[in-house]
Amino acid sequence: MRARADIDLDAIAANVRTLGRLVAPARVCAVVKAGGYGHGAAPVAQASIDAGAACLAVAHVEEGEALRAAGVDAAVLLLSEPDPGAMPRLVAARLQPTLYTHAGIEAASAAAVAAGVTLDAHLKVDTGMRRVGADPVDAVARAKEIDGAAGLALDGVWTHLAVADEPDHEFTAEQLRRFRAVVEELQSAGMRPRTLHTANSAGAIAHPDARADLVRCGIAVYGLAPSPQLAARVPLVPALTLRSEVSFVKQVGAGEGISYGLRHRFAHDTTVATVTIGYADGVRRRLSEVGGEVLIGGRRHPIVGTITMDQLMVDCGDHPVAPGDEVVLIGRQGDEEITAEEWAERLDTIPYEVVCGIGPRVERRWH
Ligand code: PLP
Repeated sequence: MRARADIDLDAIAANVRTLGRLVAPARVCAVVKAGGYGHGAAPVAQASIDAGAACLAVAHVEEGEALRAAGVDAAVLLLSEPDPGAMPRLVAARLQPTLYTHAGIEAASAAAVAAGVTLDAHLKVDTGMRRVGADPVDAVARAKEIDGAAGLALDGVWTHLAVADEPDHEFTAEQLRRFRAVVEELQSAGMRPRTLHTANSAGAIAHPDARADLVRCGIAVYGLAPSPQLAARVPLVPALTLRSEVSFVKQVGAGEGISYGLRHRFAHDTTVATVTIGYADGVRRRLSEVGGEVLIGGRRHPIVGTITMDQLMVDCGDHPVAPGDEVVLIGRQGDEEITAEEWAERLDTIPYEVVCGIGPRVERRWH
């Protein structure tokens, strides 16, 4: 068996329902960009909608087109303004644009008029993330531009929080204050967009005042906490199991080295299993240097030596192991569990990078 990721769609559905209950009356937008954070965009999207999510969000027009090609019919919001040249494709795929530049608004309007449709557009306001979005000073002018453009309706106004995953950070309150000021200005100018949204998963979980009408949840839909501080706040179920199998078993002697660079040397005679998964599949090369483990026979065993492109080695000590044995890298086996959060902590990164990094060569199965 080659490496495989099994995705539990019941877990996705349970997480969407849990988040929905938490944020009601706000609704959940399931963020399925980057191939559903490595979990498979279309199956996760459909499971989320079936479990009550109001809509979906992706980063790129191509991702929206892929959802349509897979038969997903729900509303799909783009989280950044697409290139002006991509607007006709956005219209053809019935995607909702996020807009914040004059050129973008003009191109979206022209594409909508050419197709004879009205697009529900969302204005993104940059309240402090400093990535993309209209400056609050220009927000009302941009909103009026959208509102007045042929073929466009101002359906939503939104912003993105920079530090919501640090629940005590005071900048979230400042961003929400800036956002509310923009909304009040819009209302004074006679505009009443239907959908206001500011929260990602961390915002939805940790900041009730950020929930507004809609929360854009990615990582929590997949059952992972946005940050260690938020891990215990909501009962989420990790949806992904990453597994492979033992391809080869041998005895090695005390003092022998293993793998490229012979960086690991064995203190005792031991049994070593080779496992068919490597850094090309998303197991970061550094994992063996920072205490990375796998599950075989329901027990933890250390990864030893440099992780190679297609294979890694595991010190099984004197525990019985044989070719064909299942190896769990992320997920449960027996009473043991290794989580994407554990990898992230070891690798000094975030669980997002762990699951998004699972390579295209890893077969996905949805259950
Ligand atoms: N909203 C925007 C604009 C994003 O870029 C993202 C993801 O990066 C999300 C929402 C979802 O964030 P999370 O996965 O933390 O819920």
